[in-house]
Amino acid sequence: MSFSFETIFPLVQQEVASYQVPVVDLIAAQTRDPFKVLLATILSARTRDEVTAAATRRLFPRAGSVDELAELSVSELEKLIYPVGFYRNKARYLSALPKVLNERFDGKVPDTMDALLSLPGVGRKTANLVIAVAFDKPAICVDTHVHRIMNIWGMVATKTPLQTEMQLRKILPERYWKDINFTLVAFGQGTCKPVSPHCDRCPIEKWCPKIGVTPRALKRSDRMTGNSKKFLSWNVNGLRAALKNGFSDVLHALDPDILALQEIKAHPDQVPEINEIIDGYHVYWNPAKKKGYAGTAVFSKVRPVRVWNGLDGVESTDDEGRVLNLEFADFYFINVYSPNAQPALKRLAYKQEFHNALLVHMNKLSRDKSLVLCGDLNVAHKEIDLANPGKNRHNPGFSDEERAWMDEVSTAGYIDTFRKFDPSPGQYTWWSYRFNARAKNIGWRIDYFIVDPASDHRVLEAGIHDEVFGSDHCPVSIVFR
Ligand code: SF4
Repeated sequence: MSFSFETIFPLVQQEVASYQVPVVDLIAAQTRDPFKVLLATILSARTRDEVTAAATRRLFPRAGSVDELAELSVSELEKLIYPVGFYRNKARYLSALPKVLNERFDGKVPDTMDALLSLPGVGRKTANLVIAVAFDKPAICVDTHVHRIMNIWGMVATKTPLQTEMQLRKILPERYWKDINFTLVAFGQGTCKPVSPHCDRCPIEKWCPKIGVTPRALKRSDRMTGNSKKFLSWNVNGLRAALKNGFSDVLHALDPDILALQEIKAHPDQVPEINEIIDGYHVYWNPAKKKGYAGTAVFSKVRPVRVWNGLDGVESTDDEGRVLNLEFADFYFINVYSPNAQPALKRLAYKQEFHNALLVHMNKLSRDKSLVLCGDLNVAHKEIDLANPGKNRHNPGFSDEERAWMDEVSTAGYIDTFRKFDPSPGQYTWWSYRFNARAKNIGWRIDYFIVDPASDHRVLEAGIHDEVFGSDHCPVSIVFR
């Protein structure tokens, strides 16, 4: 089928309509203030949207106008915008901005390319975005996603974003210019990803020429049946924060039959809004006694026959809300949030004790019926499971002792379901918030679905949902029958 931009672009727009609105567009819609859009656009370069949004929430009350910005020192600006990418350079650019705006542009943000390019910290991409978003004028902002996807589609055959912009200016009708960036950034983050794009669920797959693309290997088994159930596990790193960062959209988009959460850092009375979101689920909590710390929860569409917290024989696991067990007619479901071994492996002994008790618990339950264990085990098993194994050899989460426990689990026959379907490297579930690690995919695979050996045939699919943001972990899932 031949590729027609007019045909596929509306389908891509439809696909991303439910995605989170990029922060710069959000600020433009909320403030209608070109100055704030300019600041947000400068901050957003090489920075995740959540980080940019948090920085603008700190910056805007102190620098809501050119005059207010002029009052702030570089070090104050650094503190306000940290940890956006290149925050030191950006603080210097922001500090220099009021003088240039006042001297050359009467204190106002200009709306032309040449004038914007004369401002500190403003390159072509930023200028185009400000023109399109703040002034609603035709401009094509070409970032890496737009450049990459336009080449995949064969719309251009270019080496640099600048060449792509110049080509698109010639061939793309002006009515599309403003929407290209927003649409393709979202599409590039969620579907047409730089590594292993989701061609398997892409709405334009049948038209796409896929130039230079290696599609993601399918993990779906041909044994899929109508009786299967989807289980999802997610370390949300604070349920209150996740609720503000699209938790509801994720839940509705992925629609799991059982959702297991770790590190909820909240008691049920601190998240009353959850009740409106989880209509149709039976809800079970195991919050930590200490407020704002650890804790687990499970939401299930099917009512379990029994629910209990903790590991048999290890009392302290209840204190930290680390284990939540559900028994169903033909399987046990264990949601686990393993302790972190801590810097210098200070808590390794505690973690080892916890993990040893967990394995005893798993062995005991799996004698009776199928066992599904999921959660953040806070350990990457093999070198393939993290980006920098050499550097992390003795670090928490990749110490020999923690990995030895994973070996024990595997020797006992338990199955790491993700690896059953996907042996490829670069598949991670956690990325540090520092050093732009997620954008660079410098991550660790420490979140798992594990089943007992006899239940191997019941796992039909396993996946990592790295398109989902809202936490420093992404969800993992299996389809189980
Ligand atoms: S089919 Fe694949 S390569 Fe083409 S746009 Fe969709 S995800 Fe990208």
